[in-house]
Order: sequence, then C-alpha cells, then structure tokens
Amino acid sequence: MIGVSGTTKNLGVIGWPIAHSLSPAMQAAAIRAAGLDYAYIAMPVRPETLPAAVEGLRSLGFRGFNVTIPHKSAVMALLDEVDEDARRIGAVNTVVNENGRLLGHNTDVTGFLRGLSRQGVTVKGKRAVVLGAGGAARAVLWGLIREGAAGIVVGVRNAAKAREALTDFAADVEILSWDGDAFAGALASSDILVNTTPLGMTPKTGEMPPVDWNRVQKEIFVYDIIYTPGCTRFLREAKAQGHRVTNGVAMLVGQGAEALSLWTGVQPDESVMEQALLAALSEKENGGRA
Ligand code: NAP
Repeated sequence: MIGVSGTTKNLGVIGWPIAHSLSPAMQAAAIRAAGLDYAYIAMPVRPETLPAAVEGLRSLGFRGFNVTIPHKSAVMALLDEVDEDARRIGAVNTVVNENGRLLGHNTDVTGFLRGLSRQGVTVKGKRAVVLGAGGAARAVLWGLIREGAAGIVVGVRNAAKAREALTDFAADVEILSWDGDAFAGALASSDILVNTTPLGMTPKTGEMPPVDWNRVQKEIFVYDIIYTPGCTRFLREAKAQGHRVTNGVAMLVGQGAEALSLWTGVQPDESVMEQALLAALSEKENGGRA
C-alpha cells in the first residue's frame, strides 16, 4: 500500500453536507488496491463558497474531484468545458483538472448503464418505462436515449410538473401520469422498468411506486436505483413475480469507477469498490460513524 507523501496527487468530493458520502471509502479502497499514489478526501463546501472552493481546488492542483448535492448544476458555470453527457443531463458529478483547465463530466450515466450491462441487458431497440423525473432520472433518461432505446415513457405523480422539468427531453420521452390508462398501456409493452423515485428508500421501506405487476410482461427487467435498502419492496415484489432485477449498487460503483479512471487512466477493480461500499453502508445501518 502506498502512503501519503510529497508526490501524492489529490482527489476528493465536494458537497453540503458531505459527512454521509460513501465515495471516500469506495475510492480509497480502489486507490489502495491499484497501488495508485492518490488520496481522496471529503470536502464540505457551502453553496455560497462554491466558486471560491472550485478556484481553490484548481490552484491547489487537485487532479480532480467529484461533485454532489447541492452543487451538481451550479458547478457547471465555473468550469472551462463540459462534456455532452453532463450537458444533456444538466449536471456534473466529476471534474478533471487538465493542467489548470477544469473539465466537467457526468459518470452517473455510465454507472446506470453498467447496472444493465452487468446483467446482460442491452438498451438498443428496447422500450423502457422510467418512474420519477428528478435529478437521477435525467441521467437514466439520457443513458437510455444515448444507447438507442426504441421508446421511453416517464411515469410520475404530477405530469405537468415533470413535463416542465424535462422540456429538453420532450422529443425523446413521453411523460404520463402513472394513474392513467395510457401509462398502464406503456407498462404492458415495456422491456425495462426503472424506479428513480425515492419510494421505498430507508427509512420508508414499506413504500413503493404504484406498479400493477399483472400488467407487465414476464420478461421485463426491473431496475431500482435505490441502494438503501439493497432490496426494496419494489424489487422484492418484482422478484416474487419472477422478473429479473438489479438495485442501485452497480450504478453507484460504476459512476465512481468511471471517475477514478478519468483521473488516473487506470480502470479500477469494481469488486473492491463494491465491497468497500457495502461495508460502509452496513456500518451506517448499524449506527456506526457517518
Ligand atoms: P429528486 O431529484 O428529488 O427526484 C425524485 C423524483 O421522485 C421526482 O420526480 C419526485 O416527484 C418523485 N417523488 C419523490 N417522492 C415521491 C412520492 N412520495 N411519491 C411519488 N413520487 C415521488 O431525487 P433524485 O436525486 O432524482 O434521487 C432519487 C432516488 O435515486 C433516491 O432514492 C436516490 O438515492 C437515488 N439515486 C441513486 C443513485 C445511484 O447511484 N444508485 C444516484 C442518484 C440517485 P415530484 O417532483 O412530484 O416530487
């Protein structure tokens, strides 16, 4: 294992609050396993100090940093360049410092797609239903569009609000109230179903989005991007119906692995990252340190 020395390059994550972040545990494990001379730390940055913090990280020669809530959109205006994924999603979660030029990426889309590819699910030509229209949904929708899904329907509780939030996706996505017959019809012909709402997330594990399992195809692949708990009520019910499923762990690991690879040029060991993530999650669940 390499310790911190005068040559160690710096990485980290900015957010507010940040103590809950799982990225330091996950990234430190990957850095150690790959024998890289990097350090990764959590940095609390209040919204009003974001511009100064970003300039500080540039001046300090940080190789890069992750960006989390509430800075993912606000940081974009402070960067020199933003790639297409980040631009379409409207959020940056990874910044790479190329000799003082700050380049913004969004690795959530790679993370989301990795959750599918790991299960052998391809997107091209498939019909998808996405539940929810918030920040995470934008990465999911862009991933499905980018990979050539044949049709995408978004199901939400408030269609008017979602249409406003997703105006830039209007050409590729149909937004429907999940209470209506049109949505039930879309669900019936869907190949992939993704939950991006927080329904069922700890501590409200009894909740789930309103899906009538009698109306979906047997072959549908069910993806819940929630990772606490590891198996939501939504996934439990889907499994009981015989559907193939996956949770949000692969997405979280995948976005972190892609970020580390952008900074270091090394493809990290994702199983090491996953183990560190699961250990950090169980420590949290058991009331350990945040
Ligand atoms: P968000 O921006 O707040 O969006 C949440 C969406 O869910 C909105 O469309 C919202 O609808 C809907 N929603 C919230 N509460 C609802 C309720 N009680 N009933 C019906 N709809 C409801 O949140 P987000 O950042 O997209 O995150 C959503 C989930 O994704 C969280 O559970 C988060 O942990 C997970 N996530 C996972 C990963 C990963 O890597 N695995 C990454 C990011 C996020 P309204 O607009 O009507 O409120």
